Amino acid sequence: MITTMYPEYPPGLNDEQNKYLLANLKDWSIAHGLAVRPPPAYVPEEHNPLGALATTAPVTLFPSLFPRVCFEQAKSVAKAYNELYSAIASDEGWLKGIVEELVDIDDFIAQLWKVYTSTKSEGYVQPLQLGLFRSDYMVHVDPADTSPSPAVKQVEFNTIASSFGGLSSQVSALHKHLLSIDAYPDTISSIVNEAALPQSSSVPQLARGMAVAHQAYGPPESDIETCVIFLVQDPERNVFDQRHLEYALNNNHGVRTFRLPFGRVLDDTKLDANRKLLYLPPHAPNKPFEVSLVYFRAGYSPAEYQSQRDWDGRLQIERSAAIKCPSILTQLAGTKKVQQVLATPHSPHLKRFLPDDAQAAAVLKTFAPIYPLDKSEAGQEARNLATNPETAVRYVLKPQREGGGNNVYRKAIPGFLNGLPELQWPAHILMEMIEPPAQSNVIFRNGEMQEGGVICELGIYGACLWKNGEKDGERDIVENFEAGYLLRTKGSGSEEGGVAVSCCSTRNVLWS
Ligand code: ADP
Ligand code: MG
Ligand code: MG
Repeated sequence: MITTMYPEYPPGLNDEQNKYLLANLKDWSIAHGLAVRPPPAYVPEEHNPLGALATTAPVTLFPSLFPRVCFEQAKSVAKAYNELYSAIASDEGWLKGIVEELVDIDDFIAQLWKVYTSTKSEGYVQPLQLGLFRSDYMVHVDPADTSPSPAVKQVEFNTIASSFGGLSSQVSALHKHLLSIDAYPDTISSIVNEAALPQSSSVPQLARGMAVAHQAYGPPESDIETCVIFLVQDPERNVFDQRHLEYALNNNHGVRTFRLPFGRVLDDTKLDANRKLLYLPPHAPNKPFEVSLVYFRAGYSPAEYQSQRDWDGRLQIERSAAIKCPSILTQLAGTKKVQQVLATPHSPHLKRFLPDDAQAAAVLKTFAPIYPLDKSEAGQEARNLATNPETAVRYVLKPQREGGGNNVYRKAIPGFLNGLPELQWPAHILMEMIEPPAQSNVIFRNGEMQEGGVICELGIYGACLWKNGEKDGERDIVENFEAGYLLRTKGSGSEEGGVAVSCCSTRNVLWS
């Protein structure tokens, strides 16, 4: 049975202590860009006509606790995961097998695949690919194990628009600052201290990943400058998260960056005769830039593709000589279906992509059980589990979607499947719920404090630049490194919770 060793965490504060902590947290956050644009419901548009207002990003008042051994475990597999997913993204033949199971029942996947095949038939002109990945984990302790030692299990692997790397570095710095000015009472000094608060290097490392790609792209064809495009949603509330990366790229590496709304690709870019991607800034259309890298913070959800024009824009980028982060195949490698296929017991796939036995074993340890919902034997078994209200409560059902809010949880699964034509079932995977032990914290969100039970989800960023070879499945890795972390803290009451970023305290203190 797992119990917390620190029932007194977070500590109770008196009014003056609370005021001191909050005043410092609020001001430090704004002063350091730990901020978001306010939700429209929070500040009506008529009070914010130029969109100039910002508010503090949701954070926990206290660092959430996370076992150091689990933090180290997740970091230790980061490079192996980069290797694994770059190999998958380079293997069209293998991915085709996955996509074929989905194209007839998932229009979004079908459309992405069409962009790929259309580009492929013409021939790709850029062999380099950049992955800025984030592998997400929760702590899992097997309840059947009498002397449980905590380990992480992977929630999912993100290959497109992995967010919060910009804010995460700031959250680490915020909690360190609060510690340094004695905003935390002495009673928790054995838990929250300098050694227990690792700084997330996500800003410099993700920026370095982009800079490496930019550099590898080489000099421009003519005498115009090169730039990196941040392809973004519009409006975007999480804009400062992205800005931190832009500023790091500009300040540390001298790389020009521009923000291009996803719907404006065909308005503001064009291809030259060699399929170089040219960006024509709307504020200075006579001074075009050659695009070295397109970093996607958009384009992962069907709702963003409002018309054929948006698909044409996606195709224009894919056909171009710019390095894509991600390419279509890299995006498809991040589908939940791929995660399920890798996690199938005794499957040969992991070995195929990760020939090093030690690496493969370490990665395998992070897999949670995931099942298909097709007509295979495993699929039939999963169908029984998912449609039985007694067993369904241990699972989450996921479609091939990104960005949160798409999953069906526990007791809602049987009813959901009941209302879904059986033909559509294989578009989903069934995953065992990871049950991290709850702890308590106080979340500061939209100017309000919410105290209660929380759970943590750790994301480890990875950066990987590789070069595809002539033959399918061939690739050379140019750079591969771990790129910092994100610890999110969510209310344990709701299934997905709101997103609150929180700093990581990695002493192995949580478990008795
Ligand atoms: P998305 O790509 O939309 O972020 P996720 O697979 O990350 O999809 O699921 C969204 C959220 O649902 C996660 O951040 C986590 O809070 C919860 N979740 C997903 N899978 C599991 C799981 N197996 N166990 C516990 N919680 C999960
Ligand atoms: Mg995701
Ligand atoms: Mg997720």
